[in-house]
Amino acid sequence: MTAVALPPSNRVSLAALDNYDPDATEAAVRSLLAPLGGMEAFVKPGQKVLIKPNMLSGKSPKRAVTTHPQIVRAVIRLAMASGGRVSVGDSPGIGSPTLVARKTGILEVIKETGARFAPFTDSVIVHPKGTTLQQIEVAKDILDADVIINVPKLKTHQMMGLTCAVKNMFGALIGMRKPGMHLQAGTDKGLFARMLLEICEALEPSLNIVDAVVGMQGEGPGNGDPVKIGALLAGSSAQAVDTVAAALVKMLPDQIFTQQQALATGRPLTRLTELELVGTPLAELQINHFRAAKMTDINFGIPGYFGRRLKHLLTAHPQVDHQNCVRCHVCVKHCPPQAMAIANDLLNINYDLCIRCFCCQELCPHAALTTHQGLVLRLSSRLHRINRTHKDGN
Ligand code: SF4
Ligand code: SF4
Repeated sequence: MTAVALPPSNRVSLAALDNYDPDATEAAVRSLLAPLGGMEAFVKPGQKVLIKPNMLSGKSPKRAVTTHPQIVRAVIRLAMASGGRVSVGDSPGIGSPTLVARKTGILEVIKETGARFAPFTDSVIVHPKGTTLQQIEVAKDILDADVIINVPKLKTHQMMGLTCAVKNMFGALIGMRKPGMHLQAGTDKGLFARMLLEICEALEPSLNIVDAVVGMQGEGPGNGDPVKIGALLAGSSAQAVDTVAAALVKMLPDQIFTQQQALATGRPLTRLTELELVGTPLAELQINHFRAAKMTDINFGIPGYFGRRLKHLLTAHPQVDHQNCVRCHVCVKHCPPQAMAIANDLLNINYDLCIRCFCCQELCPHAALTTHQGLVLRLSSRLHRINRTHKDGN
C-alpha cells in the first residue's frame, strides 16, 4: 500500500547547532530549511519579508531572553539571497524598540546585512476568524508584509508554560494593547491561550524558525536560566513547530496552556503522530534535564463562582524580593489591572486585583519578583514530577 503524502504544514525540520558561530549558524539554518524546499520555497524575488524575532527586552544575547542575533542574521541573509526585501521588527515588552534592538545585538546584524529596521509603531485593526477575539490591533509592518518569518526563542513562560512559535506572534500587538488583552482574559489562562492561538492563526506566519540552540528554563521568559539544547526547528505551521518544541524539551501538553487549549479545541498538528519530522532525528536532540517554570494553576473542575474563588485563592502569585527591588516602577507601569503600587519606599501587590499574568515578573529588570506557590500547588507540582519520572522511566 502506498503511504499518503502529508501536506507541507505537517512537516517540521530539525537540525543540530552547537553554538552561534556566524558561519556555522548560517550553514545550519540553510540545512534546516533544505527539506522544506529551502528559503526559496517561502520567499520569492521582490517580496516584502518581515522577520519577527523575540525582542522581549534589552538584555545581552548571553541571557537567552531574546532570539540570538546570529540566527536573525542567518535568516536575513537567506531571505535576501532569495530576492526578498527584508525588514526586522518587534514590539518589546519594555524599553524602546531601537534600544532593545541595540542591546540584544539585533540592530548590529540589521545594519551589517542592509535590512530595514521596523520598530512597530503604527497599528491596524483586524478581525480574527475564531470565537474568542472580536478584533485585534496589530503592527502595520506585519500586515504590509508578503511573507512573515517568525523567529522565536524557546523559553519557559511563567503564565503559559512555554513560549515558542505561537506565543511569539503576540509581539505583533503594539505597546499597551498587550496588557489590555491580559485584562480581557483576567485569571483565565485557558482563555488567554485561546487568544494567542487566534492571533497566530490570523497573522499566519509563512515560516517559523526556532532558536533552541540555547533556550531558557526556570523562571522564564524574562528571568530564567539559559540552557543548552543545541537545536533548530522550522516549519510552515507554528502549531506543528510548537508540538515538536515541547517534545524536544520533554514537556507534556498539560504543562503548556497553548498546547492544552489547541488539543481541547480540536486544532490539528498538536500531536507528534500527525507530523512528518525531517532532518536530524528528534531523539538525537531531545534533552532530559529541562527545568519547567513553576506550575501556577490547577484545574479544580469546580464550575461557577466557588470554582473561580478557589482558583483565585490557590493559584500561584508573584512575590516581591525586597532585597533586589530597586523600586524602578517598571512593573507598576505595566501591571494590567494596576494591582501594584510603591508606598513608603516599598513595592506592594494587591492580590485581590492581581490576575496572575506574571507580566511583572517577565519585565522586571532586576529579577525582584519570584513565584510563590501555595501548599496545594506545591503538592500538585510534586505529584506531577513523580508521575513524569515514572513515565520517563517506563
Ligand atoms: S519589582 Fe522589579 S520592576 Fe518592580 S519596582 Fe522592583 S525592581 Fe522595578
Ligand atoms: S501583580 Fe503582576 S501578576 Fe499580578 S496582575 Fe500585576 S503584573 Fe500581573
